This record gives sequence, C-alpha cells and structure tokens, in this order.
Amino acid sequence: MNDFAPDSITFSTGHYIGGEVVATGERLPVARPSDLVDYADLPVATADTVDRAVTDAAQALARSGWATQPPRERARAMRRWAELIEERALELGRLEALGSTRPIAQAVTGDVASVAEGIRFFSEWADKLGGDVAATRADHLGMIVSEPYGVVGAITPWNFPLSMASWKVGPALAAGNAIVLKPSELTPFSTVRLAELAVEAGIPAGIFNVVQGNGAVTGDALSRHPDIAKLSFTGSTRTGVAVMKAAAESGIKPVTLELGGKSPQLVFADADLEKAATCIAGSLLANAGQACVAGSRLIVQRAVMAELVERLRKKLAAVIPGPTWKAATGYAPIVSEIQAQRIDRILAESARQGAQCLLGGSRIEGHGGAFYQPTLLANVTAETAAVREEVFGPVLTIQGFNEEEEGLALADHPEYGLAAGIYTADLGRGLRAMRALKAGTVWINRYSRTLDFILPTGGYKSSGIGKDLGRQAVEQNLRHKTVLIDIGG
Ligand code: NAD
Repeated sequence: MNDFAPDSITFSTGHYIGGEVVATGERLPVARPSDLVDYADLPVATADTVDRAVTDAAQALARSGWATQPPRERARAMRRWAELIEERALELGRLEALGSTRPIAQAVTGDVASVAEGIRFFSEWADKLGGDVAATRADHLGMIVSEPYGVVGAITPWNFPLSMASWKVGPALAAGNAIVLKPSELTPFSTVRLAELAVEAGIPAGIFNVVQGNGAVTGDALSRHPDIAKLSFTGSTRTGVAVMKAAAESGIKPVTLELGGKSPQLVFADADLEKAATCIAGSLLANAGQACVAGSRLIVQRAVMAELVERLRKKLAAVIPGPTWKAATGYAPIVSEIQAQRIDRILAESARQGAQCLLGGSRIEGHGGAFYQPTLLANVTAETAAVREEVFGPVLTIQGFNEEEEGLALADHPEYGLAAGIYTADLGRGLRAMRALKAGTVWINRYSRTLDFILPTGGYKSSGIGKDLGRQAVEQNLRHKTVLIDIGG
C-alpha cells in the first residue's frame, strides 16, 4: 500500500438519485478528520429532494422489475457489483480514507474487502427467500407469503461509512426493495461512489439512491416520508429516539435501530491474560475506540488486575497516529473537533469524580486533526461519567471484582446492551456468564467480528431493535402476507 496525495482524489459531491448526481440544496462544508481541513461541500436535501428520491425509487422499482424478475437475476447483478467493488478497491479505499477516520491500509484491505464480501453474502439470499404453508383444515390452504416492502430508507453514522451502508443496502436489495440512504454529513462521499458502482454493475438506476445532508433536515425528512415503508438507522441512542418518534408520527413504519454501546470486557482470573490483553487493546485501538461495539469497560477479577493492566499498558503504548492517507498510519484520528471536545469533557468530569488516569488522558499533539491517547481510567464507579456514557474514543475504564456474581452485576449496564467479552479457561463459567449478560453479541475468549456475515449484530436495551447482518437482516426487509384459500372438496 502506498501513500496518496489527498488533493489527487476526485469524487461526486451531490445526491445520487435515479442514477444521476443531483446538486440541489444549500451547501455544508465537509472537513477531513486527519487535518480538519474543509476539502469539499455537500448539498443538504430538503423534504422536496427527499421526496424526489423516494418517488424516483418507486418508479425505478416499477420500471425495472427489480422485485419481480427471477430472483437469480437480482443475485447475479449484486455479485457483479461485489466484483466491481473488489476491482476498484484502491479507488474506493482512498476515498474512504480521505473523508473518514479509516487509515488507507485498513480501508482497502479491511473495510472495502469486507463490503464486497458482505454484498456477495446478501446476494446469495435473493433466491432463497420464500414463505410458508401453514397447518390448516384439509379443505383450506393457508400460506404465509413474504414480500419486499417497496422503498425502504436508511440513515448511517460516520464511523465506518462504507461498511455501514453495505449492511443496509445489501439485505434491502437482495429482498427486492429499492433504498434511499442518507450517510452522515461528516463522511458523505464514499457512499455515492458505492451507489455509482452499483449502477455500473447493472443494478437498475434508482434502486440505490443517496440523499446528502444533516440529520435535522434530511434525516428527519427521510424518517417522516410517508412512502418510506421501512426504516433502518445506525447511530446514537439519542438520535434513534428521534428517528423512532418521526417514523411513528408519519404513518407508522417499522424501524431497525442499531444504537450506542458501553460494552463490558469481563476477565476471570483463570483467563489467558496475554490473549485477553491483545483482544481488549485491539478493541480500544480499532478506529481509536470509535466503534459501537468498543469494549470500553474492563471488569477484571482482582487477583489478576495488576498483571492485566500492566500488559495492557505495554500494548497501548506504541500507537502510530498520522494522516489517513499515509500507508504507515495505524491509529485513527477522532472524527471532528466537536467529538474530541466531548471526550475532553467526559475525562474531565470523570477526574472530578475521582477517576485516576493510569495511561493517556489527553490528546496527541502535533497533528492537524484531533488524535487521542489510548487512556486507562481506574478508581471508577458505576456513576463515573466514563463508565456511564458512551465515550466513542480510546478510553477504557477498569473495575475489579472478587466473586462471579459481583463481576456479572458490574458488567450489566443500566442503559446499553450491545456487546460483551468474556475471558476464562472454564467453558462452563463462560457459558453461564454468556446467559446472564444482557447483550446482543457475546464474544468468549475473543473480541471482534469475523467475515461470518451469517452472525447478526444488534443490541439489547437502549442499544437497539432488530439486527444488521445475518438471515435476520434480510427477513427484516420483507413483510408477510397471510393467504387462506378455500379449496373445498
Ligand atoms: P448520530 O446519531 O449523531 O448520527 C447518525 C446519523 O443520524 C447521521 O447520518 C446523522 O446525520 C443522522 N441524524 C442526526 N439527527 C437526526 C434526526 N433528528 N433525524 C434523522 N437522522 C438524524 O451518530 P454518529 O455520531 O454519526 O455515530 C456514532 C453513534 O453510532 C454511536 O452512538 C455508535 O455507538 C453508533 N453506532 C452503532 C452501531 C451499531 O451497530 N449498533 C454501529 C455504528 C455506530
């Protein structure tokens, strides 16, 4: 992987509606996270532009036969799209790196490669969906027929722009829907390139549309559009509440919500401590903690606390911050100055509450963008700001326990239940803890996703409703019609 010059990258800065770049709306400046320089601006789609995209998508569905053609044709078009994404991995990866927190080396071989494979995974569902024949009286035939919704909407966050878009578009299209997607206004441009490649691969124009803009105007208009039959949102819990409310106020539509997390890393004394430290440090360093599943609360049995913390210190000491367009960069910038100030605020409040900083605790100076040191906070309680709130930065709080029940009680967060890590050599204990933890994903003796897209992801409690990935994501893009036929006799 080579460095690239940020000013050498060209891309479309409009909305993408009906296969065309459209540029209506007031424009908002967009900054590169690496140096916070404004490098482009994007138009803000008002309710009129959102309406145009939704209407175009409905017409494209009717015109193209996307939902009614033999499903294997749909699968074939999506497979071609996945191949094209792989062929253009460097170009797409550079655009992703330019405008987001993803360093180029990770963007090309990690994010883009996984997007292509994810689209391929979803394409394979196209001709494997169907309904059921139900048990009824012999003179009746009862069927449950599954159908696509029509035009669905999606709203995505800034932390993994291409991946988050593919998790929404893949299942929606495989199920036979058209989609109108609004990316984050902080990282808007790579999603349009993804949509352009879909059309180039033979997916009919208008089946995958992108509307640009901020949440208050464009996101709200999309959530409220009466012809959006189903909505899928990924972002913070606070915004998820607004989206759910808007969806309910505009004709009732189902919403899938992938929201925030405050996930525990529960380490028992019998665990392989080196492996646990590698997994926990890896989770903290990935995208500098700006990941929904970041394992941000270490809960460790007191007998091994000192040793584990020492191992973590060593692993967290040598990060390589830098601009995302340098191949050597291994550590992501914080997405914006506002987000960095939020981390400052949570750390300052935690310090006032008595938290003791064992590592880091401040920004890494000398870069144009905001970079944050990996941070370890001890002497915290359930009330400490960094334990209570989702930081969305490289901050790990440390709490100790003696007995299993005490550890499980600390692991249970009052608000969030997205993911959890358990480290133990005792499988029985690991499985007991797995059952006890209220989390949508539990990892035992590891802490990260694989390319096993069949495993769904989603939260318990205020971390969300419904699932991305897996069979479940495809099923959520279908609705069911009950048919009862009198066959006499
Ligand atoms: P955010 O909630 O600020 O924004 C997410 C999206 O919602 C953006 O596109 C934004 O423009 C839009 N939005 C904002 N206000 C809106 C409104 N009133 N109506 C409609 N749309 C609106 O979140 P973010 O800062 O972009 O992302 C970080 C958050 O996302 C974190 O909380 C993180 O945990 C969460 N996240 C969750 C998952 C998951 O799978 N559970 C994955 C990634 C990120």
